[in-house]
Amino acid sequence: MAAIVDSSKCTGCGACVGVCPVEAITIENGKAVINDLCIDCGACVGACPVEAISL
Ligand code: SF4
Ligand code: SF4
Repeated sequence: MAAIVDSSKCTGCGACVGVCPVEAITIENGKAVINDLCIDCGACVGACPVEAISL
């Protein structure tokens, strides 16, 4: 599994990118994308100001 981004909420702010310990998040076309490196740690969930990420 990997964390899931609700692209309708994501603003592309990038706050989640820096908190990911395994560099699983990139910004593509203005939206966060989480790849299969994700270890489900949850750090990005708390970092997102608009609650766009869930596990
Ligand atoms: S849950 Fe953890 S490992 Fe997965 S994308 Fe978020 S910060 Fe990275
Ligand atoms: S912190 Fe939230 S709003 Fe910002 S890029 Fe990540 S998922 Fe999108």
